Amino acid sequence: MASPQSPQDKDREGCPCGGLAFEDCCARYLEHGEIAPTAEALMRSRYTAFVRQNAPYLLDTWAARTRPATLDFGDAPQWLGLQVKAHLQRDEHHAEVEFVARYKVGGRAHRLHERSRFERTDDGRWRYIDGDLFD
Ligand SMILES: [Zn+2]
Repeated sequence: MASPQSPQDKDREGCPCGGLAFEDCCARYLEHGEIAPTAEALMRSRYTAFVRQNAPYLLDTWAARTRPATLDFGDAPQWLGLQVKAHLQRDEHHAEVEFVARYKVGGRAHRLHERSRFERTDDGRWRYIDGDLFD
């Protein structure tokens, strides 16, 4: 990675999901193997994983039946920020998270407004199933 910053400097920056410093926020799930306690925490960590292009984490937190075989970041947009609008806990094993993610493609800003569905398996892990787009 050609970066003028050391990894540690990067980890002290604000987390891409809009939370605390990365190290105190999504790094717990992306890099230290902690299990996201809620669908919202998982959703935030997955957004951060998209920003950091962490394909193994994204595939690992995707429900097996909807998971793509591979993830290609070749035409990935530039992610600008995340806003969680709502977190709906349906029952112990199902939840929905509505969010707006802003991004840029070819110099133009866009927003992705989605309500995502998540499920928690008996091992306590939340995984992304699919989502409905607004607009
Ligand atoms: Zn975060």
